[in-house]
Amino acid sequence: MDGRVAVVTGAGNGLGRAEALALASAGFRLVLNDLPGAALDAVAGEVKAVGGEAVTCAGDVAEWSTGEAIVAAALDSYGSLDALVNNAGVLRDRTVFNMTADEWDLVIRVHLRGHFVTTRHATAHWRRLSKERGGPVYGRIVNTSSEAWLLGSAGQPNYAAAKGGIVALTMATARGCARYGVRVNAICPRARTAMTAELMGDAPAGVSDPMSPDRVAPLVVYLASPAGAGFTGEVFVVHSDVVAVMGPPTVR
Ligand code: ADP
Repeated sequence: MDGRVAVVTGAGNGLGRAEALALASAGFRLVLNDLPGAALDAVAGEVKAVGGEAVTCAGDVAEWSTGEAIVAAALDSYGSLDALVNNAGVLRDRTVFNMTADEWDLVIRVHLRGHFVTTRHATAHWRRLSKERGGPVYGRIVNTSSEAWLLGSAGQPNYAAAKGGIVALTMATARGCARYGVRVNAICPRARTAMTAELMGDAPAGVSDPMSPDRVAPLVVYLASPAGAGFTGEVFVVHSDVVAVMGPPTVR
């Protein structure tokens, strides 16, 4: 990867941690974000143990200043920013007829505003660079949606709505930034994490068989890497051994 630089949000555990380790193993230098107090230092230590480089940038990903700080951390620490992996998320599960406004707002805010804020600052950087250089630059965004964006999820109307918004944001960003060289895709993983384990319990293997985050991470590495340049505005559904491209056609 020639020391390309990737940001991973929500990198303190689960899928974000697995993505960070996979990106580091592939040669990316990392900026790791999660909430203050999350296991960021531990993950940074794990990255260093596999021979990688990582700096941490703790903060609420939905705060404007966190988006600014993340981009600044990449530029100050490494002199560049090449890929943004938006993974931070939170659950407040409840049926729609019982959900509180606070449960709705938090999930929409962390997922949707969180994806927006980091995207806003990263794409502003790439656009500026592209104008300076007079041509397309290297920029990759991998957003984390869910099959819930299309299929819904009975106990998660807030989460399903946020994940649908993330697909729409992915498409709009792919279209809006294609001319600057930026590629933007979404993954819909069915990963086994503390979050999903709590929801799915010991579901029988098969139909809703969640998979290890270690199986999702290589797709993220691919989409962040030069090899993934052919894809933008795509939605990748990942579960079991299957990776399927879904949704509207590639943005041209
Ligand atoms: P998954 O692995 O499925 O993404 P996790 O709960 O394991 O689910 O990971 C989500 C991560 O996002 C957690 O590490 C959590 O601390 C982090 N996170 C939650 N809210 C925020 C936020 N506002 N800003 C940054 N990170 C957040």
